[in-house]
Amino acid sequence: MTKVDCLECRECGKEYPPEIRNTCEACFGPLEVKYDHGEIDTSREAIEDGPHSIARYVDLLPVENEESFSEVDLGTGFNKLLEADNLASELGIDELYILNDSVNPSFSFKDRVTAVAVARALDFDVDAVGCASTGNLASSVAAHAAKAGLPAYIFLPDSIEKSKITQTLAYDPEIVPVHGNYDDANRLATEVADEHGWGFVNINLRPYYTEGSSTMAFEAAEQLGWEAPDHVIHPMAAGASLLSVQRGFRRMEEAGLIDDGDVRMSGCQPDVLPIAQAVRNDEAVVPVQDYETLAHSLAIGSPADGFYAKEAILDSGGYAADPSDDEIIEGIKLLARTEGVFTEPAGGTTIAGLKQLVEEGHVEEDETVVVNITGNGLKADATLQNYLDVPESIEARLEEFENRGAKQEAEELEAR
Ligand SMILES: *Cc1c(COP(=O)(O)O)cnc(C)c1O
Ligand SMILES: [Zn+2]
Repeated sequence: MTKVDCLECRECGKEYPPEIRNTCEACFGPLEVKYDHGEIDTSREAIEDGPHSIARYVDLLPVENEESFSEVDLGTGFNKLLEADNLASELGIDELYILNDSVNPSFSFKDRVTAVAVARALDFDVDAVGCASTGNLASSVAAHAAKAGLPAYIFLPDSIEKSKITQTLAYDPEIVPVHGNYDDANRLATEVADEHGWGFVNINLRPYYTEGSSTMAFEAAEQLGWEAPDHVIHPMAAGASLLSVQRGFRRMEEAGLIDDGDVRMSGCQPDVLPIAQAVRNDEAVVPVQDYETLAHSLAIGSPADGFYAKEAILDSGGYAADPSDDEIIEGIKLLARTEGVFTEPAGGTTIAGLKQLVEEGHVEEDETVVVNITGNGLKADATLQNYLDVPESIEARLEEFENRGAKQEAEELEAR
């Protein structure tokens, strides 16, 4: 017997066998994994005895062959929940934690979703895997495909950060840069996956893929002593992972692992993108076509789960933040300066968003808050270089060191 019962349409409820498929034939709605709860057998003790990675939650994930899951798991997750006391006191809140996914094997949270989807691809015995990526998924899929011994086809907009392409190339996949933005790359990748019958993790394997993000919820609650936090602050691109994190807490409650899986979910997105705007202005999620943001990994103008993410945020009693590019840079610096965690602009968006939510009164002073930091700063160091000044060099002499302040002042005076 298997723990995945079927795929179910989120819109009309039509059920499909658990195969390679992501949209409903009847209404084009997205499909979701429906579990057979009778087949899920897990406990706090079993999890605590498990591997120190997301593999400890395999009983809660939609993979059939647990061996193939272990084979492709590069050691993702079970990242230490950091107590962010310095940042909390700077922001004026009580209890703040950081789930730091910048330390995953390919340095972003995408390893969680990719590990599940590639294991599922092995379940289905496909000839190749692939994805459309805003940057981080590219390297994650390439890494997992390398481990699984499968060819990988990676479609990306040609505007993404050079460092992300460099990292991806190192794993030696078939890389296909596409003129245009993410939505263009995604459209082409969808046709290619269809044409060749390949398993593209965030396209036709998407129902399984999104389930991987639930492990962020599992890890946060386990490390809080088997208790959900009051409030989670999460970045949004398509909005899929925010939904999956919320679902993760609920599934823990259903499985008897925690008492209460209701969590306020707040989403953060650069101000040019539509989900946060829809929440803040109480309007529909209207796709945008021409947009520019430093946070390339969040840059999706037509977010597949935008509508659902907005509803989930509002239903949960959360809210949305919409920082500007300048605020995103300040967010990166604030996190590094207070907590010693160096994140890319997606994380800067989340920290700037947290600050905005606190200032606007959307975070209660006594709440337990978890902030999900989803990517590593080295992924976008070229972006950040424009905002940080390297000090002038000095001669290797003590007096030069002692006088460097005066020298700098004199130079600044002269410059005026
Ligand atoms: C993909 C990604 C996200 C969130 O993506 P969703 O599509 O909303 O699930 C967040 N942060 C980083 C760094 C990402 O790469
Ligand atoms: Zn349907």
